[in-house]
Amino acid sequence: MKIAVCMKQTPSTEAVIQIKGNTIDEQGFKWIMNPYDEFAVEVGVQLNERFRGDTWVMTMGPDRVIPAIRTALAMGIEKGIHLNDPAFIGSDATGEAKCLAAVLKELEPDVILCGKQATDWDMAQVPSMVAELLDLPQCTGCTFINVADDGKSAVLKKKIEGGEETYEIPFPVVISIDKGVVVQGGDPIHEARYAALPGIMKARKKEIKTIGLEDTGLSHDEVGEVGAKIKVTGYAPLPEKEPGRIFKDQDTIVMVKEVVRLLREEAKVI
Ligand SMILES: Cc1cc2nc3c(=O)[nH]c(=O)nc-3n(C[C@H](O)[C@H](O)[C@H](O)COP(=O)(O)OP(=O)(O)OC[C@H]3O[C@@H](n4cnc5c(N)ncnc54)[C@H](O)[C@@H]3O)c2cc1C
Repeated sequence: MKIAVCMKQTPSTEAVIQIKGNTIDEQGFKWIMNPYDEFAVEVGVQLNERFRGDTWVMTMGPDRVIPAIRTALAMGIEKGIHLNDPAFIGSDATGEAKCLAAVLKELEPDVILCGKQATDWDMAQVPSMVAELLDLPQCTGCTFINVADDGKSAVLKKKIEGGEETYEIPFPVVISIDKGVVVQGGDPIHEARYAALPGIMKARKKEIKTIGLEDTGLSHDEVGEVGAKIKVTGYAPLPEKEPGRIFKDQDTIVMVKEVVRLLREEAKVI
């Protein structure tokens, strides 16, 4: 079974975002593997432990993404693909999906694993666009994977309002992974495996193939800023939240009366 994981590098969830002109200031960020993609990598490694085959991680981004690819390789993925070309800079989700799909078309994986969404731009669009471009079925927000013994299809589940939905999908398939996913009846994955020293040492020798615009067969005007149909025209921080009010050191009845008065007269919610 051939597995490809689409993995994005994102700013650490603790990074303080500063706006600089019409973009964000990337200086001083700690960059990490997108948290949902960590789960996707973990799923890829677990499936490969069961159905031995070929595992790939692919990332589109500048030179700084290489450590995230190495982390995935240290976690157990076998080979890396780095889509890196100045022409890719400023791509929107469509541009990114086109590039990823072009490479995936050649690679022909049985299972394409993605995160549910990237925690920086929060679009949750790339996996569905990849599925559409490759004319493949997709399970979004997947929380359960049970691959059939012949490795040719899977039973997949996702959470919906008040319940869950079950699918049976033949491969090839695009699966975007949610936190807590259960793989082949194992424990829910709330944390991906840690890249331990032997894995880190091995990862140094693993192959990372670089792919540029020409290798994708796409033209200059399909990607990057030129090809972006969505133009980001501005960023603004959220307005500061008013501090919460704490009621204490008074008689409970007095405090409850005051809270009710405020809910009625100020917040006007009752
Ligand atoms: C300098 C710069 C300029 C930009 N300009 C624009 C712009 O003008 N217009 C605009 O719409 N957006 C712009 N973007 C945003 C950017 O291209 C978004 O990353 C894109 O829109 C996809 O959205 P997302 O990252 O939220 O991905 P999502 O769709 O939320 O990602 C879901 C999953 O798809 C996969 N995935 C996503 N991205 C990648 C990747 N790069 N490599 C591998 N797998 C991936 C991962 O598995 C991820 O978990 C810009 C970004 C940068 C850095």
